[in-house]
Amino acid sequence: MQTERSRALFAEARTLIPGGVNSPVRAFTAVGGEPLFLSRGEGAHVWDADGNRFIDYLGSWGPLIAGHAHPRILAAIAETAAKGTSFGAPTELEVRLARKVVGRVPSIEKVRMVNSGTEATLSAIRLARAHTGRDRVVKVEGCYHGHVDALLVSAGSGVATLSIPGTPGIPAAVAAQTTVVPFNDLDALRAVLEAQGREIACVILEPIAGNMGVVPPRPGYLAGVRELTRAHGVVFILDEVMTGFRVAAGGWASLSEQRGEPIDADLYTFGKVMGGGLPAAAFGGAAQIMAQLAPAGPVYQAGTLSGNPLACAAGLATLRLCTDDLYARLDRTAAVLGTLATDALTAAGVPHRLQRAGNMFSVFFTDAEVRDYDSAKTQDTSAFRAFFHTMLAHGVYLPPSAFEAWFVSDALDDEALEIVAKALPRAAAAAAESAGGGAAAEGAGGGAGAARVAP
Ligand code: PMP
Repeated sequence: MQTERSRALFAEARTLIPGGVNSPVRAFTAVGGEPLFLSRGEGAHVWDADGNRFIDYLGSWGPLIAGHAHPRILAAIAETAAKGTSFGAPTELEVRLARKVVGRVPSIEKVRMVNSGTEATLSAIRLARAHTGRDRVVKVEGCYHGHVDALLVSAGSGVATLSIPGTPGIPAAVAAQTTVVPFNDLDALRAVLEAQGREIACVILEPIAGNMGVVPPRPGYLAGVRELTRAHGVVFILDEVMTGFRVAAGGWASLSEQRGEPIDADLYTFGKVMGGGLPAAAFGGAAQIMAQLAPAGPVYQAGTLSGNPLACAAGLATLRLCTDDLYARLDRTAAVLGTLATDALTAAGVPHRLQRAGNMFSVFFTDAEVRDYDSAKTQDTSAFRAFFHTMLAHGVYLPPSAFEAWFVSDALDDEALEIVAKALPRAAAAAAESAGGGAAAEGAGGGAGAARVAP
């Protein structure tokens, strides 16, 4: 694979941008080698600066649920741009997008738009603190909510990928206001709430953890969080930046209903899919809490580009494409892909575990049950590294991190799946070799390589 142009751009970027990238996981630090600079995307494909074509399973880390450069989304952006790109005054598109969000998530009555998931979670926390008159935040180990000071303690995603134990620059006094509990562990949360309940403003978590690899909530876990937070007067924030409008029409809130375990949080945060690849995000909840935001109430929150017309137009066009049929197709695609991956890894004798929730799934290079961050960290990241680079060399662009979901899009067709099916046995063999056992060469079919598949 020719990568001269990417290499030259990365060299230049490193002289101008710290680490050469504008968001750390893009740098390929966790998988080694140098990042490819992408120059074009269409449907299921992306092209790098040297003209190499890949099937894209990164999807801009989640937003591109309809694939790249979808004609309807492009048309909506172009039509809107022709009328002006930003006003700093209210526009009808904001009202339309707000109605779409409120209409899709039953327990949301009001929503405020922002530009990123980070802004959504930091604003939701401020609101929860104001609403309760308490300062402490409880977060879950391995969940990532953006680079918010209070939430970078034991965070997943890039923090997990780069093995950063904590982040310098966060005042000790701020970090001390955060209590961390393990995912899927109600007893730990109960103990914290019993000990510190009166100081705790909010509990924030991802309903399906996606930033330590995909870890679904155990049956009853989220309902238990709901019950405990209510009992202690604590605001429950469901961070649906990744799951929102991705796993079902109303995100986890509606998927959980379909599963017969409906939950309602006090505040929700959204991003990614709701901006259709442009910077739109939001937080919302019951009118009574949201009414405390300025100018309706005293809690200040603002943004020059919040509710930007182009982002709203892209978000609206994307959500219009997100029908029940689309979610059914994505579920099927994720199931097929997951089976292809697990079959190839099993045949090569690579210990692994496939975990899936709706259309979000990931492959952990461990045979331990992954129910929280500690178990996610048992995976063999060197096996992932070899797997990742072999997939890339065979035309498949996966998220460059062992702690991430594979993001499927509606643009993935039979050709895209065939390319993956061809690449997988080679990548599995590379993973087997790097794990040191040479199991692939020995043709081991079961034993250490037997997959465990979680729902
Ligand atoms: N919350 C979750 C669950 C996320 O996955 C992310 C980003 N991966 C964020 C918040 C932060 O969003 P952003 O990168 O848009 O700031």
